[in-house]
Amino acid sequence: AKMTKEGVLKAIKDNNVKFIRLWFTDILGFLKSFAVTPGEIELALSEGMGFDGSSIQGFARIDESDMVAMPDPETFAILPWRSKEDGAVARMFTDVLNPDLTPYVGDPRYILKRQLKRAADMGLTMNVGPELEFFYFKDSNGTEVLDRGGYFDLTPLDVASDLRRDTILSLEKLGITVEYSHHEVAPSQHEIDLRYTDALTMADNAMTYRLTVKEIAMKHGVYATFMPKPIFGENGSGMHVHQSLFKGKKNLFFDKKDEFGLSPEGKSYIAGLLKHAPEFCSIIAQWVNSYKRLVPGYEAPVYVAWARRNRSALVRVPMYKPGKEAATRCELRCPDPSCNPYLAFAVMLAAGLKGIEEKYELAAPVEEDIFEMTPKELKKHKINSLPGTLGDAIQLTAKSQLVKETLGDHMFGKFIENKTAEWDAFRTHVTDFELNRYLSIL
Ligand code: GLU
Ligand code: MG
Ligand code: MG
Repeated sequence: AKMTKEGVLKAIKDNNVKFIRLWFTDILGFLKSFAVTPGEIELALSEGMGFDGSSIQGFARIDESDMVAMPDPETFAILPWRSKEDGAVARMFTDVLNPDLTPYVGDPRYILKRQLKRAADMGLTMNVGPELEFFYFKDSNGTEVLDRGGYFDLTPLDVASDLRRDTILSLEKLGITVEYSHHEVAPSQHEIDLRYTDALTMADNAMTYRLTVKEIAMKHGVYATFMPKPIFGENGSGMHVHQSLFKGKKNLFFDKKDEFGLSPEGKSYIAGLLKHAPEFCSIIAQWVNSYKRLVPGYEAPVYVAWARRNRSALVRVPMYKPGKEAATRCELRCPDPSCNPYLAFAVMLAAGLKGIEEKYELAAPVEEDIFEMTPKELKKHKINSLPGTLGDAIQLTAKSQLVKETLGDHMFGKFIENKTAEWDAFRTHVTDFELNRYLSIL
C-alpha cells in the first residue's frame, strides 16, 4: 500500500522498527543501502539524508561527492526476513539528489522518471510485467544444482518448491503481487512472475525481487543467482518484459478490428523496439556473460523479428483473448535479470515512443523457427541479428543517439566507459577454453 510521510512515521512506531534502510541503485543495477534510526527519519523525509557518493559506480566525481538521498514514502515496507522481536527493519527507495536538491543525473531512478515524464506529456503511462528467471546452486563457488527438474516439474524433483513458496510469501508481505511461479526448463532454474504495475513501481519491485530471492535462498543455506548463463548447454536466465501503454483507462495498443488486435500505435511501438534493440542491447544485456545466453537453441532471442507464438523471436505478442483488451501487450525477450531495470525500462520506452512519434512501420510477423533458417533465408526476410558479444553491443550503443538522449550525457559516458573496460578485461584474458583447446595441439 502506498504511504504518506505521516503513514511512515506511524508504521515505524506501530511495528517497533529500529532501522530504516534507504535504498538506491548504481549505474550497473546494484542495490545500495544505508540505514538510519527512527530518530532521524522525520528529518530525512523532509530534507533527505546526506551521503558521500564518490565511491558509488557511476556517481559523482571526487569534487562533487556530496549527495542527498530523498526517501520516497510511497515505497515504505518492512523487510519480512528480519524478526520483529529484536526490532523490525524497514526500507524506502530514495531519489538521489544534488546538495541543492535538484535531481542527480547519475541516478538511474531519475533517468526512468524522466522518460516516464515524456510519456506523461503525451498523455501516456507505461505498464510493465517482467518474468525474472534464476538458478539455485548449493553455494556461490560453483554450479552444483539442487534438482534435476525441468519445465513445470513438481516435487519430489522440485526440492526448491519450499524456497519459492517462502520467497513468494515474502514478496507479498513487501506489497509485491506474484502472478505465478514454476520450475523452469534447466535443472535448478526457477521463475516467479510479478503482476504488472506502472514502470517505476516495477523497477523498484525488480530490485526488491532480486534481493528477496537471494535473502530467502541464503536463509535456506543455498545460493540464488541471476547470472544470465551460468551453465553451458542449458537454458540461460532471461527477464522477458511484457509492456503496454495506457491513455487513461484505455490500452493504447489495442484495436479490435486489426488481425493481431494491435492499434497503429501498438505496431509502431513494437517497430521501435525492434529497430533500436541492437543499439540498446548493452543496457538490457550488460555483461560479457549475457551474450552466452543470446545464442540459438535455448529459447533466447538472437534475431530481430516479432511473432505471436515463436519463442525464438525478439518480440512476442500474446494472442488476443476476447474481453481482455487491457491485457494487449508485447513481450521483449532479450533482457536478462542482471540488468539495471530502471535503465532497461527507460530505453525500451524511449525506443517505443520514438516508433510512435515517427510512425515506424511494423514488418510482418515471422512464425517459422528463425534458428532453422539459412543465412540466405534470413536475408530474404530482412532479419537482422542482435550483437553477438558485449564488445559489439557497446560499439552499437556508443553510436546511438537514442540511448545517449535517454541516459543523458553523464550516465551515457560513464556507462560506455565502464562497459568498455569490462570488455577489455575479458578480451585480454586467457580462458580455460583456449588452454584446453590449444595448448596440447599448438
Ligand atoms: N530461459 C529462456 C531465456 O533465456 C526463456 C524461457 C521461456 O520462454 O520462459 O530467455
Ligand atoms: Mg520463463
Ligand atoms: Mg515469457
